[in-house]
Amino acid sequence: MSEILGKFSTQSYAFTPTATVQNWIGGEWQDASSGDTLDVINPRHGQAMSRAPLSAAADVDRAVAAAAAASAEWKQWPMRERAQVFYRLRGLLEAEREALAWLISHENGKIYAQAVAEVDKAIECVEYGCSLPNLAAGTQLDVSRGVNCQVTDEPLGVVAGVTPFNFPLMVPLWMLPQALVGGNCFVLKPSEQVPLSMVRLAELFVQAGLPAGVFNLVHGGKATVEALCDHPGISAFAFVGSTAVARSVYGRACTAGKRALCLGGAKNHLIVVPDADVELTAENVVASFTGCSGQRCMAAANLVAVGDVDHIIAAIAEQAAKLMPGTHHGAITNASSIDRIKGYIDRAEQGGATILVDGRGKRGEEPGGYWMGATVIDHVAPDSPAAKDEIFGPVLSIVRVPNLDAAIALENSSGYGNASSVYTTSGHVARAVIGRVEAGMCGVNIGVPVPREPFGFGGWNDSLFGHGNITGWDGFRFWTRPRKVTSKWALQKDTTWMS
Ligand code: NAD
Repeated sequence: MSEILGKFSTQSYAFTPTATVQNWIGGEWQDASSGDTLDVINPRHGQAMSRAPLSAAADVDRAVAAAAAASAEWKQWPMRERAQVFYRLRGLLEAEREALAWLISHENGKIYAQAVAEVDKAIECVEYGCSLPNLAAGTQLDVSRGVNCQVTDEPLGVVAGVTPFNFPLMVPLWMLPQALVGGNCFVLKPSEQVPLSMVRLAELFVQAGLPAGVFNLVHGGKATVEALCDHPGISAFAFVGSTAVARSVYGRACTAGKRALCLGGAKNHLIVVPDADVELTAENVVASFTGCSGQRCMAAANLVAVGDVDHIIAAIAEQAAKLMPGTHHGAITNASSIDRIKGYIDRAEQGGATILVDGRGKRGEEPGGYWMGATVIDHVAPDSPAAKDEIFGPVLSIVRVPNLDAAIALENSSGYGNASSVYTTSGHVARAVIGRVEAGMCGVNIGVPVPREPFGFGGWNDSLFGHGNITGWDGFRFWTRPRKVTSKWALQKDTTWMS
């Protein structure tokens, strides 16, 4: 077991400091050129558990050179052999499931059970990569007499990805299986807040037999990301993070001539109508807005209460009030996020909203750390910041509307378009809502409507810049380009202009 992971085999929330991480370039651990580092804070304890280098353009350049050097050989491997690496990786992830979950829990702050769920979802993404040789056979057709056209999906070369803090293992594995099985070499920049899971993944890739240089890890922040956007040796760039950054890096990468797909933030609406099942709705809504402490792009943010649903709101408030931070959901990523989340609750209260459940004073048992309890705010004004902005914490804003048309209009007034759900026992209502909401991922009686493999993950509008989804078949298409080969092996007597 590696030094990094060995520390997390203790299987507890006890504070665990670990080594400073390095970049992984061409199969070697390397220091960044500048020597600048950033503390990696364990959100549950509020203490520095590691340090991550802040890499500069020169480090990105080194990683791209290593990836380019590996590319010539890697793209010659048959896809079936490239997929074998992911079969082996799957076994390694399964074997380390618990220790990996503890590692995620320590660097991200989520509770162990929710970290296990992340590992399981990451494994599903790897399984999709394993299946690619059975899906990517390409096509061919005799397009005229004696003339055949064949289409194959070819790698782009060196590609890059940038990922957020909230899913340290899963989000990178939204990208890597399709990109690598597709024959590319990758430069990944994980969030500087959670670099450790990717350090372990680099080690597991070695055990799985991935050749040096195919996967490279460059840690850092804004300057590192901008160097990736600008680097002429990178053909495609994927990003997952907040909308402001997604929009800006999408523009920058496209300007530099890259194919880009950049997923942004969210403000997800759950529309609840009076005929909804009370137990199902309450349990599901609470799980959605408190899971990962609301720090996920699929979390419920606004509950749009259509007509009289007071009985359902009462059940939601009752369940949410029982949740304890540290036990039922984890810590918040850092101190400034606590200030941001509290600020939204304070302003909503000052604006006349009713705080049904107040999480501002709740905390986990540890003396330090960044904590916030589940919070339910009723009668939130539809044009207030609590109803419009991404709060990214365990906060549910309830906006009251008189009818379904008003609910759909409210949903569609949001610039975001990640997820939207409706809670009803009526198929007619469900169809009416799903057919009209501006959201890429919709749910019926499901609070976190993630389209699991083989379906592709991706929102609309300000939640996604570019085309298609990041996972599933769209992901494979994003990381590859079609080659069309038209061939003829004999002179045709009955020739046409096409032959
Ligand atoms: P973030 O945008 O702050 O950071 C994401 C990545 O961008 C990190 O690697 C970070 O180093 C880098 N970065 C930060 N500021 C930058 C800048 N100015 N220029 C260039 N790069 C920069 O996001 P976060 O706080 O890590 O993650 C939370 C956000 O991610 C939320 O908005 C959430 O909704 C979103 N998210 C979206 C999805 C999705 O699928 N749409 C999934 C997960 C998270």
